[in-house]
Amino acid sequence: MVDGIANMSNGALRRPSQVRTLIEILDKLRFKINDLKRQQHYIACHWCSPLHRKKRRTLSVKIASEGVIYICHRCRKKGAEFYVDWRPR
Ligand SMILES: [Zn+2]
Repeated sequence: MVDGIANMSNGALRRPSQVRTLIEILDKLRFKINDLKRQQHYIACHWCSPLHRKKRRTLSVKIASEGVIYICHRCRKKGAEFYVDWRPR
């Protein structure tokens, strides 16, 4: 994984795509959260939920001041996306 950058031949470093707003981050991650308060949210995980009959809210999504941090307690998918520009409502 880590030496993937070194193997790129043309020198153009590919950065993770930068997203701007909370809406864009949630849209990119396909998280459906209606209440966009800065707090912990629990939603159904769209990665692993289709594989299970019980649609439990296993995905913990934290909307923080600097970005969105998420982890699924069932499939262990996790990550974080940070705002380029946070605009308060
Ligand atoms: Zn999951």
